[in-house]
Amino acid sequence: MVYLKAIEAHGFKSFADKVNIKFDSGVTAVVGPNGSGKSNITDAIRWVLGEQSARSIRGVKMEDVIFNGSSGRKSMNYAYVRLVLDNQSRKLSVGEDTVNITRKLYRNGDSEYYINDDKCRLKEINELFLDSGLGKNAYNIISQGEVDEVLKARPEQRRNLIEETAGVMKYKLRKKESEKRLED
Ligand code: ATP
Ligand code: MG
Repeated sequence: MVYLKAIEAHGFKSFADKVNIKFDSGVTAVVGPNGSGKSNITDAIRWVLGEQSARSIRGVKMEDVIFNGSSGRKSMNYAYVRLVLDNQSRKLSVGEDTVNITRKLYRNGDSEYYINDDKCRLKEINELFLDSGLGKNAYNIISQGEVDEVLKARPEQRRNLIEETAGVMKYKLRKKESEKRLED
């Protein structure tokens, strides 16, 4: 299984100092006072995986992810986040044990993505995660609201969710497509 080994961030939201948050393969709990930046960690993950909606990461415009200063500290000119993924299982089609995914955004709107140290387009990151169970639309990050949704869902909606998570959805879609082609 691919797992997250570390998140490096610099200039992303409250992370004005460069941070390197390391994770083990088991369960990690992040604790801290309100406003200390716990949710900013999951925002950082969503952002690197290509989140294009500022609202989904609790901003108004994308520039809001850049550290905007605090008392005695100047705002920064860019936000940088790198995910370090363990790929010993080779679930990601890169021939390396470790895969780094990096996103950088400058205040002037310039944006860069990298897979390992190679500059790439967002499309390539999306393709890398396709069918891997990872990626910004996969169920890597379950927010508080989504837990409620699962609990309140009707049985058939819940079934859809399980099928999507299990990776059955793409086969169902393909089946539907070929049935449609037969009808046409
Ligand atoms: P809670 O326990 O209330 O959920 P939390 O630990 O999840 O809190 P976050 O929401 O991750 O906290 O962090 C919010 C903090 O991040 C706020 O103090 C906010 O000012 C700061 N923050 C968000 N965006 C920026 C930015 N662009 N520049 C500087 N600080 C920012
Ligand atoms: Mg929070």
